Amino acid sequence: MADAVLQKSIDYLKGVGPNRASLLRSELGIHTYQDLLHLFPNRYIDRTQFYNINSLQHNNSEVQIVGQITGFKEIQQKRGKRLVATFKDETAQMELVWFRGHKWIRENLKINATYVVFGKVNWFNGNFSMPHPDMELKSEFDKGLRTAIQPLYPSTETLRDRGISNRVICKLMEQLFLQFNGKFEESLSEPLLNQYKMISKNEALLNIHFPKNQNLLAKAQFRLKFEELFFIQLQLIYKNLVHKAKIKGFVFEAVGANFNTFYSNHLPFNLTRAQKRVIKEIRSDMGSNAQMNRLLQGDVGSGKTIVAFMAMLIAIDNGFQATMMAPTEILAIQHYTGLKTLCDAIGIQMSLLTGSSKTAERKQIHSQLEDGSLHILVGTHAVLEDKVKFKNLGLAIIDEQHRFGVAQRSKLWRKNNSPPHILVMTATPIPRTLAMSVYGDLDISIIDELPPGRKPIKTVHRYDSNRLKVFRFIKDEIQKGRQIYIVYPLINESQKLDFKDLMDGYESISREFPMPTYQISIVHGQMKAADKDYEMQRFIKGETQIMVATTVIEVGVNVPNASVMVIESAERFGLSQLHQLRGRVGRGAEQSYCILMTGSKLGNDSKTRMATMVTSGDGFEIAEVDLKLRGPGDLMGTQQSGVLRLKIANIIQDKELLGIARESAKNILKEDPKLISPMNRPINATYVAMGTYKNIWNYIS
Ligand code: ADP
Ligand code: MG
Repeated sequence: MADAVLQKSIDYLKGVGPNRASLLRSELGIHTYQDLLHLFPNRYIDRTQFYNINSLQHNNSEVQIVGQITGFKEIQQKRGKRLVATFKDETAQMELVWFRGHKWIRENLKINATYVVFGKVNWFNGNFSMPHPDMELKSEFDKGLRTAIQPLYPSTETLRDRGISNRVICKLMEQLFLQFNGKFEESLSEPLLNQYKMISKNEALLNIHFPKNQNLLAKAQFRLKFEELFFIQLQLIYKNLVHKAKIKGFVFEAVGANFNTFYSNHLPFNLTRAQKRVIKEIRSDMGSNAQMNRLLQGDVGSGKTIVAFMAMLIAIDNGFQATMMAPTEILAIQHYTGLKTLCDAIGIQMSLLTGSSKTAERKQIHSQLEDGSLHILVGTHAVLEDKVKFKNLGLAIIDEQHRFGVAQRSKLWRKNNSPPHILVMTATPIPRTLAMSVYGDLDISIIDELPPGRKPIKTVHRYDSNRLKVFRFIKDEIQKGRQIYIVYPLINESQKLDFKDLMDGYESISREFPMPTYQISIVHGQMKAADKDYEMQRFIKGETQIMVATTVIEVGVNVPNASVMVIESAERFGLSQLHQLRGRVGRGAEQSYCILMTGSKLGNDSKTRMATMVTSGDGFEIAEVDLKLRGPGDLMGTQQSGVLRLKIANIIQDKELLGIARESAKNILKEDPKLISPMNRPINATYVAMGTYKNIWNYIS
């Protein structure tokens, strides 16, 4: 009953004509009654108090006054006109000022009628004035359903200019509630409401728009935030379960000869507890009959590669092939070189395929893949090409997952008749609760432990004016046989200015560190792959002591002898990126350093970023700060995720509630996977309705 009405076009609501309807649609995306109902206030103001004009203070911020307009005048100013109304109460008079929307105001505001005005007051030219006040006739104000705590709704300049003030939105909301007369259907189950002492849907909606008191407002917010998060989680977990039930995976039952031989005889070090745990998780995934879709998060240097390798061995032991993709050629080569010795030790066939692979090589790879004699293919995006066909691909691993899109992941799916198991790895950790709501379709493993014996990297922040000292320090380190990275922010590789910075930097470093005492490598995105590789190899072999580079070295490059990372214009990098770059050092036994170079004038965010880097070495902690500074919308790879377009909850501030909501959703689905028990009827109804809409709040109340 209610649902049909809520889907009605906003045009039909009393007080909304065609003009307002089209404004509401274009400015706030409000098409239906329901959209309006779910326009939640940004904040609330306390309107219990009234002021007299003669008692206004210079520092009064937002005040509410009762009085009358005695007249209007228009004042010409530099740009356009300003409309000024004289406004008086029993004690004094002041000005109300509008810079826009004059026509509407003159036609609609009545001289000598009693109004309640609300807004910020300014003290200017010996006068108090209130720009763009919120106005309402006192008679209307007294009649209203509204309460002392008043909501402030999201708005836009256009809306305000066209007379759709906060007051008007409140009125429309009132109209909506009067029409419904408290008949919004419950969407949560009785036990859930009881468990968290939540108020009913009806009470929550009423109090979010017309709070009776602070206590009820808080309850309303809790209930609606919970609901929002709960249903997203329910949807994600449900999809995951359905996926597991439906998409059959290859069952890798055997843990066979290769895995065991490698584990007993060729493991180059003892695995950390975290690595062992994750290998177990992967094994159990691939041994069940559902297709694995797992995200492996682990800080830089936590040892993801060996885990990936052992997962590939399981696939091979079960008669399947495996592939591992890296986002750059440098990384792919490094994986290949690193794994080659391990493969050779146990007689596994592995090849490398990148954009620079020669035709003859390619041909051989293609045919060996198809006849099954090639076990592992390591490569770049080249692996995705249609020509690359496997005999039986059982496991596909994607390294540094954020560099690949969802489309590419799904391309891997289509390499076989049935999809291979998929493991994506990332060193850009995001807090677990957030990861769960962003990558809800993936299971998550975390390596939260670094291999033993790593010394924390000493991180310092230095201003450009201290450059000479930094150079001296670098010389000392080189003297001790260490190698140095100096990284420039060529964030957009095509930007000429960035490129000039890099080249200028390279020149001054060449002067400071002259040949033949010093050898310098340079690597940037505009070089040919072969040249990049040549320079990289010189550095890896220790033939050069300094590597001047752009962020192409950001991911995964491993040179254990490099002990100093200098980051130029560090203020231009995001926190996660800084942490990634720092992870290039600290890979050997020596004490390593990260030096953040910046100009002397820094904004607050930049200061926080530098301070965070200096004090913390924990990728997850850094990711949390990054999230707070930038908001989840900027998080790599999450831009497309509708999950984060929340209307009332805030994924960062309401992190704990998210965890609770997720647990609740999980428990309910565990007990009642199809949501058919009578108790869960309200949840089921909401869930089903949700499915047909894109937005979580577009379901029936
Ligand atoms: P990432 O997780 O950043 O990809 P890598 O897999 O490249 O990390 O590992 C970083 C370095 O640590 C490599 O040199 C690797 O051989 C080494 N390593 C990995 N696991 C261990 C371990 N359990 N004990 C000692 N060294 C390890
Ligand atoms: Mg890696």
